[in-house]
Amino acid sequence: MNQVWKGNAQGGRPITPKFAVVHAAGEKIGGVDAFEFFDKNGIGAHALFYPDGTIVRMRDTRRSIGQALNHNSTSIGAEFLVPGDHNWDSFVKAMKVPAKENNIFTDAQYEAGGAWYAMVCKEHNITPDQIISHEWVDRLEIPGKSARKEKEDPGVNFRWDKFYAAFYKHY
Ligand SMILES: [Zn+2]
Repeated sequence: MNQVWKGNAQGGRPITPKFAVVHAAGEKIGGVDAFEFFDKNGIGAHALFYPDGTIVRMRDTRRSIGQALNHNSTSIGAEFLVPGDHNWDSFVKAMKVPAKENNIFTDAQYEAGGAWYAMVCKEHNITPDQIISHEWVDRLEIPGKSARKEKEDPGVNFRWDKFYAAFYKHY
């Protein structure tokens, strides 16, 4: 696993994670590298998966980070980074519009992300059915409604088949 630690690993507060959230964000956001963007704007994720398969770990998974509104004390979460430089519109499009070939994330990312989720799920006794998309978390906020419609990640182009194939190699 090719991972580097950046940011304040021991920030936040102690948590007992019961589920794991899968997110997506842009590899670059308005020309700024995702880690730099997150760090500068106080946005969180326990880890980021870059298109080349590099894992950037931002926070110890035994500590909270702001990644799933109202569920930060009970969940861990990481971001698959959509390759390229994104603004809000291009990011939302990547999440909401089915691509002809829906390989918008790289195989190296699925391998890295699958391995990372398997590792942290085993560590926290989180079962595979307790891995959910960020979109689904938000729909829990107000049952029957998409409470915060901007949250669509990781989106229609996310290949859960590739994710779980990589996950089960390590779980
Ligand atoms: Zn998200």
